[in-house]
Amino acid sequence: MMMKVADGLYAFIWQDYAQNNCNSYLIDSGKKILIDPGHKHLFPLVQKGLDSLNISLDMIDVVVATHGHPDHLEAVSLFKSPTKFTMHQREYEYIVDLAGDYYKIPEPDFYLRQGDLTIGDEQFEVIEAPGHTPGSICLYWGARKALFTGDVVFQQGIGRADLPGGNGSHLKESIRKIMGLDVEHLLTGHGGMMSGKKAVQENFHVIEDYWFRYL
Ligand SMILES: [Zn+2]
Repeated sequence: MMMKVADGLYAFIWQDYAQNNCNSYLIDSGKKILIDPGHKHLFPLVQKGLDSLNISLDMIDVVVATHGHPDHLEAVSLFKSPTKFTMHQREYEYIVDLAGDYYKIPEPDFYLRQGDLTIGDEQFEVIEAPGHTPGSICLYWGARKALFTGDVVFQQGIGRADLPGGNGSHLKESIRKIMGLDVEHLLTGHGGMMSGKKAVQENFHVIEDYWFRYL
């Protein structure tokens, strides 16, 4: 299901719980940025949404991966030059090592680093958020108060820290880093997304009160 979240911000929310795929997001504000394209064989859902916006794949300027798990990243192989691809260097090295034999991971055109990121006229903040994986990032778009969390936090939940490269105390620190941001839209990697500052803060409180004891 594709929905418009805010001006120039679209969500492709995955709803088939029989299949493992992530939510994908499109920023269409001057440049077009696709966040977490998902599994390759499940990409038609995103494709359908892009079609309805009259956006072809070669019009996407940048594909951003929050982390390297195939349910977030695999479909990046559908994109060709001039589309650029980016993820954190630590994550790239981690996923090539872990899954390089299992699926093809293109080399990023540039790496994400903690701090400011400018794409076209838009400013973002990259937040290093290890714990689910060693090089996971969250992306904050201040102009829309939108936080793309990947598998760091979900609605009423958190990412797994027990997969290879996971670390519970790192995940807790990462969540603490993003809790203080001014967030209107919490754009999670799986399950529902959330809008409304109060609902987002409440969600962080639930995570802190309930889920932190498991990390
Ligand atoms: Zn993941």
